[in-house]
Amino acid sequence: MTERKVRVRFAPSPTGALHIGGVRTALYNYLFAKKHGGDFILRIEDTDQGRFVPGAEQYIIESLKWVGIEPNEGVGFGEGIYAPYKQSERKAMYKQYVDQLLNDGYAYYAFDTAEELDAMRERLKASNVDSKYDAITRTTMINSLTLPEDETKRRLENGDAYVVRIKLPRKEEVKFHDEIRGWVHVNTSTMDDKVLYKSDGMPTYHMANIVDDYSMQITHVIRGEEWLPSAPLHVLLYRYLGWESIMPKFAHLPLLLKPDGNGKLSKRDGDKLGFPVFPLEWKDPNTGEVSSGYKQSGYLPEAVINLLAFLGWNPGTHQELFTLPELVEAFTLDRVSKHGAKFDQNKAKWYNQQYIRKVDNKILVEELQKQLEFYNIKAVEKYIEKVCALVKEKISFVKELWDYSNYFFVEPSVYDETVIKKRWNEKSPLVLNDLIELLIGTTNFTHANIETAYNHALDRNEVTSKDFLQMFRVCLTGVAGGPPIFEMAELFGKESTINRLENAKKRIK
Ligand code: GLU
Repeated sequence: MTERKVRVRFAPSPTGALHIGGVRTALYNYLFAKKHGGDFILRIEDTDQGRFVPGAEQYIIESLKWVGIEPNEGVGFGEGIYAPYKQSERKAMYKQYVDQLLNDGYAYYAFDTAEELDAMRERLKASNVDSKYDAITRTTMINSLTLPEDETKRRLENGDAYVVRIKLPRKEEVKFHDEIRGWVHVNTSTMDDKVLYKSDGMPTYHMANIVDDYSMQITHVIRGEEWLPSAPLHVLLYRYLGWESIMPKFAHLPLLLKPDGNGKLSKRDGDKLGFPVFPLEWKDPNTGEVSSGYKQSGYLPEAVINLLAFLGWNPGTHQELFTLPELVEAFTLDRVSKHGAKFDQNKAKWYNQQYIRKVDNKILVEELQKQLEFYNIKAVEKYIEKVCALVKEKISFVKELWDYSNYFFVEPSVYDETVIKKRWNEKSPLVLNDLIELLIGTTNFTHANIETAYNHALDRNEVTSKDFLQMFRVCLTGVAGGPPIFEMAELFGKESTINRLENAKKRIK
């Protein structure tokens, strides 16, 4: 058999905002497709119309665009020869396969009402038996296996509501190989006769998913762990439909866990701990509730891609920073973990910080200019540019520029109390006096000359730099941490530096 071209799909249901776990699934599919020169498809699985949420489909498309992993085929990305890519628009395609299963005895009609199903469940619960519609219970229910043939026919002709269920063998081992988990064995005695199709003409998720993967020539199904329990049913459907020889390979990705590892990462965790779980801001059309997104929180798409790649996968080396093409190169399914991946908010921030360092200074300058405008502060562009270059290393988010750089534009009037308590003593004003005097005499105001003056002032007063350096910083900026201090003073310039020291001398007691 000739090798089939790799074709993978991301198949979300438009039931709300896309969770970052979903973005990670899309990413792994993308990486796998690109690595193998294959196709990456976006299919919208909207057979469950009751759970449809307006705007969700567009949100999914926008999210994939923002992180830069665009499908080369599918809803919103150019319809290829397998169109349409939205299941509600493919409705007519499923019936023939449902009929095939019915004709071949792998499926049957069931007419039970909701009340009858409830009664069955109650009955079984009372006798402590698993309450599922299966090879045993179906013999006591109203379906084409228990009704006389002409009665089934009559009901169908009469237009009675029905569902089609898969007819599972009572006890049979289903075995399949998962690319991440290895061999998976499940006995049909633990499964139920899932509904495949309803009389309103709509297939259920399972039926549509299998038919679409088959007809779209999907070679690998890479999806979240929550779909692992459905996989044995899918394997049987491939077999019963006669498609087993071209069944896609399965790879079930590990769960994204809460930071403490206790269960699946949810929106509530993000709200509680202060980080987004959605790529973009999302306004719930039902409740009006707005949830923040990575984009709006100041994350760069490159950072989001990089951090998501590492939630469940690692390259097997110490390298942590990867561009998208580098990820494509390095990604393999056998390095995807079987175990849940804990979301780490600090690591997420760290990734963003790394990518901020790579951002073109021009972009930072524009952003800081906006922030300065907000405070009505005017400054020369060259100066702003130098400030950005100095604080770039310190910030995790572009929006923090002002927080880290305000003292470059406004001389401080309050000073860090902790440092003062620890470091200010009777010698401090004397050092400052000498330093001011030496700086006044410094003609070439470079960081090297400032440092020389500083060391002289310390020597004259027999004070060590360890005892005074942080105080010096607080006198200049008001705060305890920041960029290299002599470079910073050079940037403030002679006049402002001396002014800051004079003020500090007067104000600090
Ligand atoms: N529609 C399913 C979802 O919402 C797709 C599962 C699969 O990829 O088979 O995730």
